[in-house]
Amino acid sequence: MHSYPDASAVVRDLSPDEPVILNRKAAAARAARFFVEKFPGKSLYAVKANPSPDLIVALWEAGVTHFDVASIAEVRLVRSLLPEAVLCFMHPVKTASAIAEAYKAHGVRTFSLDTQDELEKIVAATDEAEDLSLCVRLRVSSEYSELSLASKFGIDLADAAPLLQATRQVADSLGICFHVGSQAMSPFAYVQALERVRVAIVDASVTVDIVDVGGGFPSIYPGMEPPPLEDYFASIHRAAESLPVSYSSELWCEPGRALSAEYNSMIVKVEKRRGDELFINDGAYGALFDAAHIDWRFPVRCVSADREGPSEEFAFYGPTCDDADFMKGPFMLPADIKAGDYIEIGMLGAYGAAMRTRFNGFGTGAVVEVTDEPMATQYRGDRRDPRSSDNVVSLR
Ligand SMILES: *Cc1c(COP(=O)(O)O)cnc(C)c1O
Repeated sequence: MHSYPDASAVVRDLSPDEPVILNRKAAAARAARFFVEKFPGKSLYAVKANPSPDLIVALWEAGVTHFDVASIAEVRLVRSLLPEAVLCFMHPVKTASAIAEAYKAHGVRTFSLDTQDELEKIVAATDEAEDLSLCVRLRVSSEYSELSLASKFGIDLADAAPLLQATRQVADSLGICFHVGSQAMSPFAYVQALERVRVAIVDASVTVDIVDVGGGFPSIYPGMEPPPLEDYFASIHRAAESLPVSYSSELWCEPGRALSAEYNSMIVKVEKRRGDELFINDGAYGALFDAAHIDWRFPVRCVSADREGPSEEFAFYGPTCDDADFMKGPFMLPADIKAGDYIEIGMLGAYGAAMRTRFNGFGTGAVVEVTDEPMATQYRGDRRDPRSSDNVVSLR
C-alpha cells in the first residue's frame, strides 16, 4: 500500500475524484498497546467496528490476542488472517450452523447468550461440548452513552438467576457480560453496570469465572470530549475487585470504537457549494453513515493549500440522489471553501470506513497509508485533566 506523509500529499499526488480512505497503522497499534498495558484484564477487539484485515493484523502485532466476533463471516475472516487468535462469538443470537462451524472448524469455545433457547442451541450445536466458556449477557442502562444498546440484547436482572444457574450446569467457564452503549461519556456507566453484575451473582449464587465489561470506551469527537481512559480503567478495576467472584476469575473488555476510531480518516472532494451547504462525494451510504443518520460530528479540515479564511459552519450533502444523504454537522471549514477543494474528515475508523456501500454507484475509492497524527488522540500521553482544560488535542 502506498504511503504518504499526510492528506495534503495524497491530494497533490492523486487529485482524487473518488473519496480516499487513509489508514494510520501507527495510531491503531498505539491504541492496542495502551489497552494491552493499561486495562486491568484482557482486551478483545470487537471486529464489527472495523473489519479491515490490515487493522486486525496491526492490532494483533501490537499485542491484542482475543477478538470479539459477531457473525460467522467475522469468524472466518479473523481465523483466515490469524490462525492463533482466540475468537469469542459474542452475539447473543446466532444460527445453529454458525455455532457448529465456529466450534468445530474454527476452534471457537466462547459464546454469549441471553436466553434459555440460545443456551440449548449452543449445547446442541456443539454436541454437548464440555469445554465451553459461556457468557450470559445482562441488560444494563445506556444512560451515559451516546448510542444506546440497552433495548435489543441482555436478560433483565430480575430474570437472570435461572439462566445463570442453567448455564453454570453446562459451562466449563461461566461469564457475565454487558454493553453500556457506545461512546460512554462517563466511567460511572461501568460502575453502575458492575453493581448490577454483583446483584446477579448474589441472586443466582453461582461461581463466575469471567466478568466482561464489553465495549463502549469512547473516542474524541467535536463536542464529545470524554475523561481520560485511565479513569475508566481505574473505576472498572475498583468495582470489579469488590465483586464476589473466584480469585482466579478474569476481567475482560471488548473495545471496538476505542481501538479503531483513530485508524482512518477520509479525503472527500467538494463538488458544489450552495451557501453554507457543501455537496461532497461521500455520505450516508458511505463512510459518513453516522454523520447522516445520528448527526454524529467528525473533525474536518480543508486540505487545499490556499484556503486560510476564518472558519464557518457548513452542512454536507452526499453524492446519492436522495434527500436522506444529508449531514447537518455543523462542520467548521474556511469561509472561502469552494467546489474543487478537498476536505479531510477525521476519526472515521470506527463505524465509518466499515459502513461503506456501493449504493447508487458510489463507494469505491482508493485506500492509502499516511504517517501523520490522527486529528485527535487519547493515546499520546499528553492529555490534560478534562476538569481543568477543554481536553481536545488539535481539533481544527
Ligand atoms: C459493538 C459491540 C462492541 C464494541 O462496542 P464499542 O462501543 O465500539 O466499543 C463490543 N461488544 C459487543 C457485544 C458489541 O456488540
